[in-house]
Amino acid sequence: MFAPVFLLCLTSVLYQTSFGFNLTIIHTNDIHAHVEEMNKYAGECKPEESARGQCFGGVARRLTKVNEIRNANPDHTILLDAGDQFQGTLWFNIYKGIEAATFMNKFNYDAMTFGNHEFDNGVSGLLPFLNMSNFPIINCNMDVSNEPDLQGKFNKSIVIEKSGKKIGVIGYLIEETEFLSNPGETVKFNDVKESMRSEITKLKAQGVDIIIGVGHYGYGNDMRLAKEVDGIDVLVGGHTHSFLYKEAGTKGPSVEKSEGPYPTVVTRPDGKPCLVVQVFFAGKYLGRLHVNFDNQGDVTRWSGLPILLDSSVQPGNLITDAMVAYHVKSLGQNGEWTDAAIAVLNSGGIRAPIVQGNITRGDILTVQPFGNNVDIITITGLTLKKMLEHSVAKYSNTDRPGAFLQMSDDSIFEITAKYLSTMDQVMMGDEGRITILTDCSTSSSQRHRASIHFIAVFVTVVTSFNIIMKYS
Ligand SMILES: [Zn+2]
Repeated sequence: MFAPVFLLCLTSVLYQTSFGFNLTIIHTNDIHAHVEEMNKYAGECKPEESARGQCFGGVARRLTKVNEIRNANPDHTILLDAGDQFQGTLWFNIYKGIEAATFMNKFNYDAMTFGNHEFDNGVSGLLPFLNMSNFPIINCNMDVSNEPDLQGKFNKSIVIEKSGKKIGVIGYLIEETEFLSNPGETVKFNDVKESMRSEITKLKAQGVDIIIGVGHYGYGNDMRLAKEVDGIDVLVGGHTHSFLYKEAGTKGPSVEKSEGPYPTVVTRPDGKPCLVVQVFFAGKYLGRLHVNFDNQGDVTRWSGLPILLDSSVQPGNLITDAMVAYHVKSLGQNGEWTDAAIAVLNSGGIRAPIVQGNITRGDILTVQPFGNNVDIITITGLTLKKMLEHSVAKYSNTDRPGAFLQMSDDSIFEITAKYLSTMDQVMMGDEGRITILTDCSTSSSQRHRASIHFIAVFVTVVTSFNIIMKYS
């Protein structure tokens, strides 16, 4: 009796612990109304470029990646925007900021600060965005005592609590906004450094020892702010559209060259480090900074790089394709492609993306740190179907449990597109099982013919193993 063969591997979950407090800061800046994907120069993405996978960013990729990062560790992750959501594409010319509020509302931003372009249509042009947005807006250096329309619409700072730890986030905006945009006579801009100093003092007095600035001030200004004003741990910036990656002049994963390291480490007056980050513009990249704080709230360690929001293959497909490909090499008799044509991996087994460029053994261990074995097992088609159903049973855009199965590319075609609809009848008895195999044999492809004899599936992780046991 033919039955599917599975590769199995078992996972031992290793949990890394470290002293102090870990925080992941996801950040955006200068989105400039880039709702849709763009080409590599941040220009319009033509359909043929999109079809070739040569476009980047766009609100869908941005939200997908934000959710992916945050869902991995929600109690230790915050999302910030450093301003200039307005102005840059037709979306703004037509919707005048409503588009920004509409999409940003789906992201659950922890805080946003104003950019100069938020005032391009005057205070009255900013109000629809403010009235519609559902996330806190912060700025410490704007004086709106003569502008009733903006009073009560924002605070100087916000204290976010994550895992019992208080994180103070302060907003700030370049003083020249007065000339760069149209805030009118009623909005005054105070000195950023003085305003930051007094807000930091206020927060520290409340027992907040982690201080993050989110500001629209420019890369050079941010470095000076970090150097001159004591007590800031991280500055999430914008305005100069700076691409920070590795040391200055290094080419990033796309066409941009680095203007400085991500993060740029600045020594504060008290000798401690402040991390300055910014993430280009238009949402081509997403910023992701991991920071470790000691018990005094000082930065001790950090890592991270901007994530290029491209159309690259999902690591899950890549890994499962590699499992199939590796096994193929060990065969090659009788013109058979393989006896294990399908690989399955639970999403929870993938811990990180792979950044384009040289890939080291360390990178691979970061993606799959569990040291699993890969095994081949044999199961029935019915079990395979139940596995797939279990895999998607609790899946949604906001909840993506680790049980969701990643599958090798061919499997998606073979199972999902072609056979799933017929599986019900197919799997009722032996005859049914043969039907599926017969179906495969009608394929002219060597690959499909190979799976006639055994539908082989590679599986990882204990949870999947349990499913197999349950349904077999
Ligand atoms: Zn700006």
